[in-house]
Amino acid sequence: MADRFPPDRPNPPDLVPFAEARASVLERVTPLPVTEVGLGDALGTVLAADVAAAEDLPPFANSAMDGFAVRGADLAGAGEDTPVALEVTGEVFAGTGRLPTVEAGGAARIMTGGALPPGADTVVPVEQTTVDGDTVLVRLDPGPRRFVREAGEDVRQGTVVLERGRVLDPAAIGMLASVGRKVVPVHPRPRVTVVSTGDELVDPGDPLGPGQIRDSNSWLLAAQARLAGAEAFRCGRLRDDPAALRRGFALAAADGDFVLTSGGVSVGERDYTKQVLAELGDVRSFKVAMQPGMPQAFGLAAGTPLYGLPGNPVSCFVVFETLVRPALRRLAGHPDDRLDRPQVIARLGEPVRSPAGKVSFLRVRLAVGDEALVATLTGHQGSGVLSSCVAADGLAVVPAEHRELPESSPVQVLLLREDLAWVS
Ligand code: AMP
Ligand code: MG
Repeated sequence: MADRFPPDRPNPPDLVPFAEARASVLERVTPLPVTEVGLGDALGTVLAADVAAAEDLPPFANSAMDGFAVRGADLAGAGEDTPVALEVTGEVFAGTGRLPTVEAGGAARIMTGGALPPGADTVVPVEQTTVDGDTVLVRLDPGPRRFVREAGEDVRQGTVVLERGRVLDPAAIGMLASVGRKVVPVHPRPRVTVVSTGDELVDPGDPLGPGQIRDSNSWLLAAQARLAGAEAFRCGRLRDDPAALRRGFALAAADGDFVLTSGGVSVGERDYTKQVLAELGDVRSFKVAMQPGMPQAFGLAAGTPLYGLPGNPVSCFVVFETLVRPALRRLAGHPDDRLDRPQVIARLGEPVRSPAGKVSFLRVRLAVGDEALVATLTGHQGSGVLSSCVAADGLAVVPAEHRELPESSPVQVLLLREDLAWVS
């Protein structure tokens, strides 16, 4: 059991508290300038201005049923045993533009979505009628405007249908189309450029030489960035060589709205990343009081925000979810209360330990228990053990002031999987 937890280390004095790190990153990121996009490209973007309906929805009164458009007064007293006969004088389909007029004693066959023809003021469903040649026997007094969808009953022209800050999800896109909007002002998806650093890295598919490992972080980060709503581009692996790093970071910064780099931000011999980032302008290295993921760097490289994440894949994963994702979402125009992953409260299914003075993000599985959600560790929590992320439904947060929490303690869990969002 004990080896499932990393050993406590003394609490270095230069650690930045997690909340402070988060605030100082967010402070330096502002939503991308507004652009107009077509509806086909708008899914997942954030609306930058209120949208008012330019037209009524529906645009005209129409039938909610297949049946007959009639004059209600003709059907007073109609019933199962007292049917009323009307003469069928016309037909209206969805899309019919030239409408027949319904005179007293007459009826027009009408299909769902057909415009209510002049003269008619109500609709009888076909199930309440029997047709005999040009005559229809009606067994229902429908009452006024029955089965009529009135013009503007869904949305009145001029009403705000979607507010600024709204994510354009499928319903929102359907609404925009319904009220005639083809192009909308949004914050564009951030273009995220991703680089990895390290002499030891090899792409998947290439032969693995002695001492080499796969570059997983650039794939991992690009995928996380995409799920966060960004467009992500892997811009290669950079060698642990100052000139290569300089060139690579400059290209990534020129190409993207946000650069992600991993590795080289701790204190190893060849950790040149830190040194090169410092030359780029305004990028600072720091240690955050969190586990995993302590060594990080952030700042503006030639004006583009750049985040240096730790090399260990789990650290990389957790730093992205907890610090980078909110920043990318701010860039994409999401309001402050929607920057973080949704959270739920769960009870720990086992005792956990956490290093002094650091917030821990534990990879947990969630299960529905008798009274609460139950969070259990996904296994070895080491910062290189990516399988602990693969199995995780969420990240359980152990605040910095706790060194251990007993079984059943309530904990906040950041939900990693969108199909779990129902739990909140
Ligand atoms: P570093 O911070 O560069 O010293 O890296 C810390 C650890 O993470 C080392 O074991 C690296 O080999 C590993 N690592 C760094 N970058 C990557 C990457 N892109 N993919 C997988 N592992 C990495
Ligand atoms: Mg390295």
